[in-house]
Amino acid sequence: MGQKRCSNCGTWNENEAEKCLECGELLDRKKARIIRLKKEGKLPLKIEQSPLFEIRPEFPWWRKLILYIVRPIYWTFFTIASFILYLIAWIAA
Ligand SMILES: [Zn+2]
Repeated sequence: MGQKRCSNCGTWNENEAEKCLECGELLDRKKARIIRLKKEGKLPLKIEQSPLFEIRPEFPWWRKLILYIVRPIYWTFFTIASFILYLIAWIAA
């Protein structure tokens, strides 16, 4: 088993350790970066999008086709639903 070095204080930690024993810094750099970006509010919106409708290049062609058809329907429905909600809120006010 290897060891990971803390990027913050330089302490060597077990490879399975998520956080530095010495200072508590996250050892998973990808995770640490996402958390830092979230804190700063710089996280790109793409990651926040529903993974259900994400089109990935590794998907088989039929799945991409379904997503291409379903996505506009979903967004249309979502837009109408939010408009109705807005109307209800407006009438109730
Ligand atoms: Zn550390």
